[in-house]
Amino acid sequence: MTVIALHLPDMIPQWWLDTLAEGLPECILKRWPKEIGDKSEVDYVITLKPEPNSLSDYPSLKAIFATSAGVDHFIEDNTLPVSIPLCRLTNPELSARMSEYVLLHVLRFHRHLAEYQNLQSEKKWSPIQQKAASDSTVGIMGLGALGLDAAQKLRTVGFKVHSWSQSQKHEEGIKSYFGDDQLSGFLNTSDYLVCFLPLTDKTRGILNRKTLAELPDGAIVINVGRGACLVETDIITALDDGKLAGAVLDVFGTEPLPAEHPFWKHPKVTVTPHVSTVTHPRMLGPYIRENIARIEGGQIPLNVIDRLNGY
Ligand code: NDP
Repeated sequence: MTVIALHLPDMIPQWWLDTLAEGLPECILKRWPKEIGDKSEVDYVITLKPEPNSLSDYPSLKAIFATSAGVDHFIEDNTLPVSIPLCRLTNPELSARMSEYVLLHVLRFHRHLAEYQNLQSEKKWSPIQQKAASDSTVGIMGLGALGLDAAQKLRTVGFKVHSWSQSQKHEEGIKSYFGDDQLSGFLNTSDYLVCFLPLTDKTRGILNRKTLAELPDGAIVINVGRGACLVETDIITALDDGKLAGAVLDVFGTEPLPAEHPFWKHPKVTVTPHVSTVTHPRMLGPYIRENIARIEGGQIPLNVIDRLNGY
């Protein structure tokens, strides 16, 4: 039997563990540290965020499976064994949940929801001129597992959609910008900018005074990637001076967002507590089973993190 060590927080509820176990019926799951005796019996580890140094002494470890899509916290841990593949979660439901969030907020601005709520509170019957979706362009920063799903759904609604990524993409109806040289062209025409970037050395602070200034006036920024991709003081300045019409922020440099942070009360900012999509334990079984089968069959597992690239 395959033995998997679970490096998961103590507060994870029993239903979560039971669902995970149902998805991995051919594996023995053991909680770390209390159920792990002989570490040489452990074949794999499932973890959200391992304690530093806690994975360095499993002599038979074949792979580490992250329960999340984002792995920046793993890359920062230099005690992780580099020779062992580190795999991250991708899952259609994870992407679909994220797309719901992005569609909700793009449409909220597109259909002037906040203005109509204000008008309603004043009992004013006052139609606002409505643009067609096809008059606006949504810029998807990071066309990976999550960004692509949202891009395709936004296109179905009728928005023009283009993307920016490290490598060139060839997705139907989605103009691809790629690399640093093409960032300005991408930003210049993004009425809505949705950031799906992972946090790496290259993307830290990428949304800053200079790049935000390249967006069309009145643009909306939605950040669902990582908080540190965005310079928080610069976005507040861009909102205050009218460059940006709004920001929807799900991720932050410090989480939970400190009570005194200006985002909480800013009239143009929507704050959500890192919930644009969440891992449900039923998402983990398929990706872990598939990867175990690949590793045991001598194949390369799916969604292995490139430790040099950082994602
Ligand atoms: P992927 O790895 O599938 O996609 C990442 C995309 O970012 C790729 O298109 C990649 O380009 C692009 N990219 C990375 N670095 C650069 C760069 N320097 N310049 C240009 N493009 C770059 O990741 P996912 O779509 O699965 O997830 C994206 C991120 O979303 C995660 O890393 C995580 O931080 C965040 N996340 C947030 C959640 C939330 O609840 N808010 C939940 C889950 C994830 P290329 O395709 O060319 O490699």
